[in-house]
Amino acid sequence: MAEITGSLFQESLKPLKKAASILELEPDIVEVLSSHERVLTVSIPVRMDNGKIKVFTGYRAQHNTARGPAKGGIRYHSGVCLDEVKSLSYWMSIKNAVVGIPYGGGKGGITCNPKEMSTGELERLTRGYAAQIARFIGVDKDIPAPDVNTTAQIMGWIADEYYKIMGEVLPGVITSKGLSIGGSRGRGTATGRGGFFVALEAVKVLNMTLRCARVSIQGWGNAAQPIAQYLHELGCKIVAVSDSTAGVYNPDGMDPKALIDYKEKTKSVKGFPGATPISTVDPITVDCDILIPAALETQITEKNADKVKAKLVVELANGPTTPEADKILHERGIFVAPDVLANAGGVTVSYFEWVQNRMGYYWSGEEVDEKLKRVMGDAFKDVHANYTKYKIDMRTAAYVTAVQKIVDAMRALGRI
Ligand code: NAD
Repeated sequence: MAEITGSLFQESLKPLKKAASILELEPDIVEVLSSHERVLTVSIPVRMDNGKIKVFTGYRAQHNTARGPAKGGIRYHSGVCLDEVKSLSYWMSIKNAVVGIPYGGGKGGITCNPKEMSTGELERLTRGYAAQIARFIGVDKDIPAPDVNTTAQIMGWIADEYYKIMGEVLPGVITSKGLSIGGSRGRGTATGRGGFFVALEAVKVLNMTLRCARVSIQGWGNAAQPIAQYLHELGCKIVAVSDSTAGVYNPDGMDPKALIDYKEKTKSVKGFPGATPISTVDPITVDCDILIPAALETQITEKNADKVKAKLVVELANGPTTPEADKILHERGIFVAPDVLANAGGVTVSYFEWVQNRMGYYWSGEEVDEKLKRVMGDAFKDVHANYTKYKIDMRTAAYVTAVQKIVDAMRALGRI
């Protein structure tokens, strides 16, 4: 995780304030939007495998629920802190509003290093956390999901603990569950698929052709691999890819399926046959048409933004571009599909899962895909309309779109 100096939350409010000034919102409304409705901090004592008890700290934050129950993931990481959870839950309010799904923003996490814990320790930690937040979450209150280092198995433990405490089977309390306990078809590839639909819309407004378009990707993980495959199927060339250990470059293009298999086998993209070694950050600046940052935050900065060669940036990672870099990209005419739009496919299919859980009726993969395409396409068009109307960059346009929807909901409820 990139090091953040100062308050990440205060930094993250900058685009909100920009959007508020475009919408000519009163300062008191901006203050409401800059505040969380509820933030919970819990202590979780866990019996470790060595027999000793270790106390972990967990959080759950609900930013704004005017548009619907809070929704957002749970992160297990040593860097988890209140400031981060507050930022992430506020981003979820924005993201959910951008794609028009009926949720507010929530996020949670536990400060821990899951890679150093046994499965038993992780299960006890998760069940302890679930018990602590059980009264705070709920199908119509706050619906968690996975985030960094949390899996379908962890969602299953939380569901199980919640069912026991509430005495009811309520699968809609959590999403990205396994298919056997009410998960949705299409969730595994949803973020990449959603980013792909956004890329298709962007390519149309930019008059680009995908056939032979060169694609460069930083971060070869869950979000990146599906989009690489979809773009490759349409004739794009995947010219550069990196993970946390290495990067590889081949101007003639690389087969994403072969790259996935290679990484699966060797745990790295390093040494992929036929490719030239590059650094983990080089994909940002290699010669390409479409750049997909899909690793971490703060990767496109004022130091490298003037070297980006792509015409289109599709942000699958959360927060990959700093505000300074954003300005440089905009001035250079590089079109950015921002994270709150481009990576919203995951939460959108989580919403579909919640809808299916509440109906007790499950859709085919084709139905999920068709609905996802519509949501992402409509969201792109809404954001692009504000981009054109106000002559602003796409990120500010996404915030304008989202803030307007949240303010409308708060007004309809008589909260402001
Ligand atoms: P992941 O762990 O599956 O993949 C991340 C990849 O990035 C890994 O290959 C890792 O090796 C690589 N990486 C890490 N540090 C790197 C570095 N310094 N340089 C190059 N590569 C590096 O994670 P993911 O789920 O694919 O998430 C990636 C990003 O997408 C994150 O910012 C996440 O918040 C965002 N995101 C993911 C989803 C989702 O559904 N998976 C949804 C929304 C947003």
